[in-house]
Amino acid sequence: TMLSSTEYIEKIINDVKAKNGHEPEFIQTVEEVLPTLKPVLDKFPEYMKMNLLGRFVEPERMIMFKVSWEDDNGHVQVNRGYRVQFNGVIGPYKGGLRFHPSVTLSIMKFLAFEQTLKNSLTGLPIGGGKGGSDFDPRGKSDSEILRFCQSFMTELYRHIGPDVDVPAGDIGVGAREIGYLFGMYRRIRGAFENGVFTGKGIPYGGSLIRPEATGFGIVYFCNEILEHLGDKMVGKTIAASGFGNVTWGVCMKATELGAKVVTLSGPDGYIYDPDGVSTPEKINYLVEMRNSGRDKVKDYADKFGVEFFAGEKPWGRKVDIIMPCATQNDIHIEHAKMITDNKIKYVCEGANMPCTNEAVTHFLNSGVVVGPSKAANAGGVSVSALEMSQNSMRLSWTEEEVDAKLHQIMKNIHKNAKEAAEFYGFGYNLVAGANIAGFDKVAKAMVAQGQ
Ligand code: GLU
Repeated sequence: TMLSSTEYIEKIINDVKAKNGHEPEFIQTVEEVLPTLKPVLDKFPEYMKMNLLGRFVEPERMIMFKVSWEDDNGHVQVNRGYRVQFNGVIGPYKGGLRFHPSVTLSIMKFLAFEQTLKNSLTGLPIGGGKGGSDFDPRGKSDSEILRFCQSFMTELYRHIGPDVDVPAGDIGVGAREIGYLFGMYRRIRGAFENGVFTGKGIPYGGSLIRPEATGFGIVYFCNEILEHLGDKMVGKTIAASGFGNVTWGVCMKATELGAKVVTLSGPDGYIYDPDGVSTPEKINYLVEMRNSGRDKVKDYADKFGVEFFAGEKPWGRKVDIIMPCATQNDIHIEHAKMITDNKIKYVCEGANMPCTNEAVTHFLNSGVVVGPSKAANAGGVSVSALEMSQNSMRLSWTEEEVDAKLHQIMKNIHKNAKEAAEFYGFGYNLVAGANIAGFDKVAKAMVAQGQ
């Protein structure tokens, strides 16, 4: 008996739930993505016969390992390390490492699943992966970070390589950590294979614009949305969350295009800066806050004399554009309702899966345009792929060259998501369009390779 496409999707979601009942974030992303693929199944019913969705939702490989390391008091601490190699049909696995106490296998799997679609959407030859640890970098000394990274790498090295799996940064992992990790990898391998990591420092093969790329890309993507709707970036106010690498890049590019980021947030609350996080002094201060490892934004309010709201999120603010750039599930349904009550028309996702499924559905039903993270924040991994190209060619491009390539990639992502949505009857729904366009290339490669 042949299932209808709706029944087939339901069956796969139920299978995923049965097999991964204790993985809420992974189930959340599968429940968001699969229903949008229905028109693809209706157009290619053979995908159902081939059980392509069942094949797609199973990670190719999941690695978990022990990381023991000595703290500054001479005590041995133990953390868990992860690498999920989700799908490698279009290129080596690619995706960041997250060091944060909230890290679980479920979070690694959701991020690796999203990364697979995101990386496909960039049009570049990179598969999907993600990794990290429940290690908490907050309050750790530099030597503790070094020892942790070295221990982590003595396990991870055997699973990665420039043509195998190429990690990068994510929350809690920046250029310093990538340097320590790559240094250990190089010693173990006995070869200078620097294409094994992206987000490296410039002296040993990092790409210019890589630190800025995620934030720049989000603003470029948002600009495409505005232009498509006959609107423009200049004069817009933006409520952003987070204060890390992504938010920093957003502040810079938004300022350059004449828009203003008026909020930042951290675990302690949010700040409201009506003049915008727009001057070089303010923007550089974000880097200082991040390096301090204090994980709070009240410092910004104290330094620049703006208002601080303890324990609150910025989503009740009346602005033109919402940009959640912190972490997953930052915007819940009650926030989404405040946002539509304030008649805000645009939500552009900087973090991965920052809105709950309920919030996204509410936005789409209310006519809010959502730039989904797998499209909007793909600039980071895109410049990572450009870093891999430069490493392979043993040369480096100028800032202008990389920025121009990034801009073009973001335009292409928007165009591909928009066209996929239109073609499959979703109108200007970039959430569905990004899922479909990302899936299309992976699906074709899976079928061709019999995977
Ligand atoms: N962690 C970033 C992301 O979520 C970047 C990954 C990379 O550069 O490989 O896409």
